[in-house]
Amino acid sequence: MTSQGTSRATSRTTSQATLHGKVALVTGGSRGIGAATALRLAREGADVAVGYVNGKEAAEDVVRAVEALGRRGVALRADAADASASAEVVDAAAEALGRLDVLVNNAGVGVLGPLETLSLEDVDRVLDINVRGVFLTSRAASAWLPEGGRIITIGSCMAQRVPGPGGTLYAMSKAALAGLTKALARELGGRGITANLVLPGPIDTDMNPADGPHAEGQAAMTALGRYGTADEVASMVAYLAGATYVTGAEFSVDGGHAA
Ligand code: NDP
Repeated sequence: MTSQGTSRATSRTTSQATLHGKVALVTGGSRGIGAATALRLAREGADVAVGYVNGKEAAEDVVRAVEALGRRGVALRADAADASASAEVVDAAAEALGRLDVLVNNAGVGVLGPLETLSLEDVDRVLDINVRGVFLTSRAASAWLPEGGRIITIGSCMAQRVPGPGGTLYAMSKAALAGLTKALARELGGRGITANLVLPGPIDTDMNPADGPHAEGQAAMTALGRYGTADEVASMVAYLAGATYVTGAEFSVDGGHAA
């Protein structure tokens, strides 16, 4: 084979399995965007730890699908509302699979409603899961991530544009992730670790089904006039997992919701 042929073959191999030999942890990997991401990263060559809180069987199904792709997987229960568990799941993932290269902070909850109906418990729960949990999991991951490590966080289009009433708490929680991501990029950049934020628009999942009561209005708010799929978000995460010169940045996968 000529040297040109060798180099073509190498680049083909690389593009087929950009994450070969890497280990990823996807929080909330049992369903929706997280499950699609876990499978996409496995397809790209990564072994994957799948976090969940209640969906043990769903998480184990995702692990079986990861294994069917020839990768290793493990399902790990961790309630992101629990400060200790948010950090411990990182250690458990790295210990089970031998290292940690990619953290996907995906677990999140949406509590929407008029300002006066949101209780203190709602505020604490949403901030604990969507913000504090992400901080603690990212901090724990920073102890394991090698040069080339990735922190990819799932925010929301609601952090950029709130199209109607009812989003105060959720939008506030997701907006916090922009500051965290930029600061992580600065803090960890010297070690060659990147941190980026993905902002999905309306995505058809259990959290926001495309046939739900408010779906038509949400689809209409996008330039493309439709819901996105979990796979469309997973594609962006996979890109960021491989990207070497992208950090501290935000990427809308929202069908033009912010346009
Ligand atoms: P789903 O409700 O379909 O799935 C949520 C996932 O998060 C599940 O795997 C669930 O685990 C896990 N999870 C929920 N609460 C906790 C917790 N306390 N601790 C640990 N894991 C938890 O949501 P999506 O896939 O739609 O959302 C994923 C992310 O994308 C979230 O951060 C969400 O805010 C964000 N997003 C979603 C949009 C959408 O339109 N769908 C739009 C913009 C952002 P289990 O199965 O065990 O319950």
